[in-house]
Formats: sequence, structure tokens, C-alpha cells
Amino acid sequence: NRQYILETRPKGVANDKNVVLKTNSVPAPKDGEVLLRTIYLSLDPYMRGRMSDAESYADPVKIGDVMVGATVCQVEQSNHPDYQKGEWVLAYTGWQEYSISDTEGLMKLGKNPENPSYALGIMGMPGFTAYMGLLDIGEPKQGETVVVAAATGPVGATVGQIAKLKGCKVVGVAGGKEKCQHAVENLGFDACIDHKANDFAEQLSAACNNGIDVYYENVGGHVFDAVLPLLNTKARIPLCGLVSQYNATELPPGPDRLSMLMGHILKKRIKVQGFIIFDDYAHRYEEFAKDMQTWLSEGKIKYKEHLEANFENTLNAFNAMLNGENFGKTVVQVQQP
Ligand code: NDP
Repeated sequence: NRQYILETRPKGVANDKNVVLKTNSVPAPKDGEVLLRTIYLSLDPYMRGRMSDAESYADPVKIGDVMVGATVCQVEQSNHPDYQKGEWVLAYTGWQEYSISDTEGLMKLGKNPENPSYALGIMGMPGFTAYMGLLDIGEPKQGETVVVAAATGPVGATVGQIAKLKGCKVVGVAGGKEKCQHAVENLGFDACIDHKANDFAEQLSAACNNGIDVYYENVGGHVFDAVLPLLNTKARIPLCGLVSQYNATELPPGPDRLSMLMGHILKKRIKVQGFIIFDDYAHRYEEFAKDMQTWLSEGKIKYKEHLEANFENTLNAFNAMLNGENFGKTVVQVQQP
């Protein structure tokens, strides 16, 4: 059983002395338990927070423990009457090939699901995050301008496509020409601006000629700097993530711009609201699942995965995702079905 163990806490980018691949024996299930074989592992930005012991909404992974993460598994052996060998489940078993579960918290995906890995992306946590943050906090109205960064990732791509379904003008922000092209040509965004361009702020301003009504915040950093002066009175900011900062070891250099930011929020009466998807919205999952299932089956929402085929590359794939080298939802194929 190969497992990624958190041995030391990273400073900056996590390395293979922090997160170490080790081989242990495959555990045996007791009465009432199942042995799960990991097929897909989801890699998500929040995992960087779990490697750190800075105060957060969730406890850090303990030193010596397996890295946490959502997985899609098949039941390999069952000592539980409700589960049979070969069945698929959504689980939270982390960066490892095999695990034991008492079945609590497992979500059944059936014997032969069409797209099992979708449960980690468009039908799972990232899709749900996009849906609730945009609709419940962003409250987009027809004709308004919605801006979202990390626009081709699982959250951003979904935010933009839902905003289009609600009749908004959607401007994406992404790293590089290929991603921007994908957002416009395949996802139906009205525009997508490359944040690595020297004149990024000017391009964003030109694309948002009526200002910005909803800024769905995924990244922070220089993207937010360019967004701030474009925000309209009564703009809404669902504060979902700040991925540009997750590997930061210190605050960015001055000058201190906090009073300018607060002044903007005050004068423009901007709503900024953070949220943590399952803490705040777990009770609304069914509503999301029903809408998303319909949109997917009608071809109204498109979904792209970035599959890492080697379990040995999990840590590299994780770091690459934080650095924008993924193109779509990052999923590791841990074992073959
Ligand atoms: P992605 O797969 O989109 O990966 C992160 C992306 O962030 C990269 O691909 C890159 O895209 C972009 N990025 C990285 N660094 C920078 C930078 N310095 N400036 C601008 N963009 C950058 O991630 P997800 O869709 O899974 O997650 C998106 C956000 O949502 C994250 O902040 C995450 O933490 C948050 N989140 C929050 C949840 C909540 O409950 N609040 C739940 C789930 C996710 P590019 O190459 O286009 O720049």
C-alpha cells in the first residue's frame, strides 16, 4: 500500500522531504468494514493549507499521517452487508492506494458509473463551490458583468458557465493564450484575459466596459489589484479562495494599501463574503446536484479534466496545479479500475 505521509511541514512549495511516498502493508477490514481500492484522487488547492499548522477552518494533517483528499474508490473486500466487491464510492481516503472504511461518509456511485471521476469535480466539491458561491453570494442578474479568475479550473470554468446561463456577460482571467482561447471558444465566455500579459490591467478594463458587478475571487494577488478599480457600486465578491498566496512565506511588500481597499468597499458599498462550501452549504447539495445533472445532460455545461497517470507524480502534479500548469480539474489515476 503506497501512501503519501506528511513528514515535515513545508515552507513555501511542498517538497519530497515534506510529503514522502512510503510503502506499507495493505490493511485488512474488520467486521462492518470495507477495504477500498483508490482509483482516482482529487488534488485541490486547499490541501496546501492542510500541510500547514497555521490557524484555519479545518485541522491540519498531523505529522506522520497520510495526506487527506477526496477519492473515488472501488470496494475491494467487504465485511459490510450494504457493500459489495466492485461497487464504486466517493470517499475521503487521501493520498494512498488502499484504505479501510467503516462506511460512514461514503457516497455510493453504483456498480458501473458512466464518469466516476466527475464526483471529484463538476458533480462534486468544486462544482458545488462554484454554484453556491456564484448564485447565493454573487447573486448575478441578467446583463451584469461577472469576472472570474482561474477561469479554466474546475471552480472558475463552472462559475463562468453558470453565469452565462443566467444571462450575464462573463470575463474570465487565466494564465496563457491556450487557456484564454478555451474559455471563449469552448466554455462560451465573452472574453478571457491573460493575467501574465504586461498590459493585463488595461485589457481587463477594456473588456469590462460597464465595470464589474460580480467578482468571483479565486486567486487574489495582482488579479485583484486590477479588478478593484473596476468594481461597480453594490458589486458582490464571493471570496472563495486566494490561490496566488498559498505558497507565500511572508506578506507581499508595501506600501500598505489596506485603507485604500477599505475606502473602496465603503464608498462603493461592496459586499465581500467568504464561505467554506461544506460548512456553509452542505444542506443544499441536492439542489446543486439536480441542476448540474440537468445542465450536463443538456450539454449546457462543459467539463475538462487534467489527468495525472502516475501516482508517483502526485506531489509534482499538486505543485503544478497551484502554479497554473494544470488545464482543467486535476485528478490522479491511482490504480486502474
Ligand atoms: P484550479 O484547478 O483552477 O487551480 C488553481 C489555478 O489558480 C491555477 O491553475 C492557476 O490558473 C491559478 N493561479 C495560480 N496562481 C495564480 C496567480 N498568482 N495569479 C492568478 N492565478 C493563479 O483550482 P480550483 O478550481 O480547484 O480552485 C479555485 C479556487 O477555489 C482556489 O482558490 C481554491 O482554494 C478555492 N476553493 C474554495 C472552496 C471553498 O469552500 N471556499 C472550495 C473549493 C475551492 P491560471 O493558469 O489560469 O492562472
